[in-house]
Formats: sequence, C-alpha cells, structure tokens
Amino acid sequence: MKCPQCGRKMKGDWPDKELYFNCEFCGGRFVIEDDGELVNVFNRGSNNHGTCINCGQSLTRGTYTAPWEDGDNSEGFVTCPHCGCYNYK
Ligand SMILES: [Zn+2]
Ligand SMILES: [Zn+2]
Repeated sequence: MKCPQCGRKMKGDWPDKELYFNCEFCGGRFVIEDDGELVNVFNRGSNNHGTCINCGQSLTRGTYTAPWEDGDNSEGFVTCPHCGCYNYK
C-alpha cells in the first residue's frame, strides 16, 4: 500500500494490518474504508456534517452546537453557514 500523501510504501499496523497503515516518512496514518477508499484517520469524519435540510448545501463549515449548550436544546445541531437553518443530528 502506498501513502497517498508522499507515495512511499506504508506498513500495515494494529489493529488490522490489512486495513490500517502507517507512513514512516510523512507520519500519516490511513485506513481503508468499507467502500475501499484509503483515508487519513485524522481527517476521518471531520467534514462529515452532511448537507442542510433546508437549502441542501454542505454543512462542512457550519457551527456545531452540542446538546444543552444553549440551555434548552436536548439535541446537538449544526447551524447552516449558508441559510442559518438548524440541522438537528
Ligand atoms: Zn507518507
Ligand atoms: Zn442551509
């Protein structure tokens, strides 16, 4: 398996040498997802807010409010950066 960042050969790693790889050269750590895509574990899920229920645009740059952060919201939500709609999770 080659590193997607620097192209060097990577070693399989705990907990599953078939799925997890460490790059000794650039320090990257990667995992093969269910769909076969190799992704950086540190980036995994960071842009996974989905799309806005109101305007359908990406919520990647939206602001996440944790449950009870505002005092009366029992569920966390992401505020859409485009239309300001609350997207409950
Ligand atoms: Zn690398
Ligand atoms: Zn929106």
